[in-house]
Amino acid sequence: MSYEFDLFVIGAGSGGVRAARFAAGFGAKVAVAESRYLGGTCVNVGCVPKKLLVYGAHFAEDFEQASGFGWTLGESSFDWATLIANKDREINRLNGIYRNLLVNSGVTLIEGHARITGPNEIEVNGQRHSTKHILIATGGWPQIPEIAGREHAISSNEAFFLKELPKRVLVVGGGYIAVEFAGIFHGLGAQTSLLYRGDMFLRGFDGAVRKHLHEELTKRGMDIQFNADIARIDKQADGSLKATLKDGRELEADCIFYATGRRPMLDNLGLETTGVKLDKRGFVEVDDLYQTAEPSILAIGDVIGRVQLTPVALAEGMAVARRLFKPEQYRAVDYAMIPTAVFSLPNIGTVGLSEEQAIEEGHAVQVFESSFRPMKLTLTDCQERTFMKLVVDANTDKVLGCHMVGPEAGEIVQGLAIALKAGATKQHFDETIGVHPTAAEEFVTMRTPVKR
Ligand code: FAD
Ligand code: NDP
Repeated sequence: MSYEFDLFVIGAGSGGVRAARFAAGFGAKVAVAESRYLGGTCVNVGCVPKKLLVYGAHFAEDFEQASGFGWTLGESSFDWATLIANKDREINRLNGIYRNLLVNSGVTLIEGHARITGPNEIEVNGQRHSTKHILIATGGWPQIPEIAGREHAISSNEAFFLKELPKRVLVVGGGYIAVEFAGIFHGLGAQTSLLYRGDMFLRGFDGAVRKHLHEELTKRGMDIQFNADIARIDKQADGSLKATLKDGRELEADCIFYATGRRPMLDNLGLETTGVKLDKRGFVEVDDLYQTAEPSILAIGDVIGRVQLTPVALAEGMAVARRLFKPEQYRAVDYAMIPTAVFSLPNIGTVGLSEEQAIEEGHAVQVFESSFRPMKLTLTDCQERTFMKLVVDANTDKVLGCHMVGPEAGEIVQGLAIALKAGATKQHFDETIGVHPTAAEEFVTMRTPVKR
């Protein structure tokens, strides 16, 4: 049977664009449908605008610390509207780049909501298209719990477009987005409280890293409340919000920001016309080759709920394009040793196993740790400390995990991730000459284990 397209990708986000471009490059006839914004979550309401806001928030401490180096600055003030307008301009530029990338690689771009109408058919803007394969790359969407007054809360989607910087913000959640946005709001001058329902935020990260970040954020004056969760939100006569906590306490704020996880984006996708199955958490179920239960349909990225990170969606997109149209170049995505950063202020950078995970996996663990005041701060009043940790297998000497809390932790951990991927041992770290004077050199000079 002949089809209009070899591959129809739904969603021009990180994974979808990568799959579409590479498939077209391998000679396939490819279409991509996008209902909202080119580049998807990462470019429009995720990684990119988030990082720009983090940069913006960072200036507060740069100004403060400059005096230690002899600078006298005039009184600084911050204008949210300028930051948002400049951010929007940059995102528009990136949207254009994504459009060109697709069009120049020969992909047919169809702007509109795509609905699957059968295993080999998709409807967009009232037109039906036949296709040999369908790739679902529709990403995720913020999930706010069903509490009374949830309509008064915002998610990351709205935070990027607020008209003003709120004076008082309650951030709810203890994952990446909550911690990053609490840092943004706090750094830009809003009175910020972070409310997390458990004992310690950033579940899954190394215990010492979580503790260190908690101490540093508290030192900076952020109000962090653990074992705290909102039961209801009420709008008050003056327009402000009142949050009633499950323990009965009441908190007032101008903005309540929820970052309590993301659900797969399957709205009006037409999955009921196919044999595609969902897993227990509601994400699209795929096998190791991103194949759904419907033979002609594949899925990648946030919608499969494996590792919700842009570079992972990119790798999955590439794997699908190769598997379908260049099988001789196919390489499975390796989910081990995925480095990641939390762009809190200060950053977390991490790759490999936490101490807790290493023990759980049965490794005989040796732990090396270092906590120090970075050189840049020695001429300032800032008491921030940088934290580094290596988790090593005592039997094989292999470095199982590297963790850092401190400036540029994300940048530093990217390089370490290559070493870990290559199977580096602690001896390799010890034999590596440091770059002096840097914070990163501490990773190759930790000699005495703090724990065995
Ligand atoms: P997406 O990028 O979400 O793309 C899906 C696309 O599909 C969207 O454009 C959507 O409009 C479109 N779509 C959905 N349904 C349809 C339909 N029926 N028809 C047509 N189009 C449709 N990751 C990192 O690695 N680093 C970070 O620093 C980082 N920061 C983040 C910050 C925030 C606030 C958020 C929310 C996420 C962040 N992420 C980060 C995660 C990252 O953005 C995602 O993992 C990544 O975008 C997933 O890519 P994807 O291709 O699966 O989906
Ligand atoms: P996460 O899954 O990381 O965190 C969700 C948080 O919300 C957890 O602390 C969770 O608590 C809490 N939570 C969940 N449900 C409720 C509830 N009903 N009431 C109160 N609290 C609740 O999700 P995020 O939204 O922060 O981010 C989504 C994903 O996007 C991340 O996992 C990450 O993969 C990606 N991302 C990556 C970034 C980066 O690379 N720098 C930045 C931002 C996002 P508990 O732990 O107790 O379950």
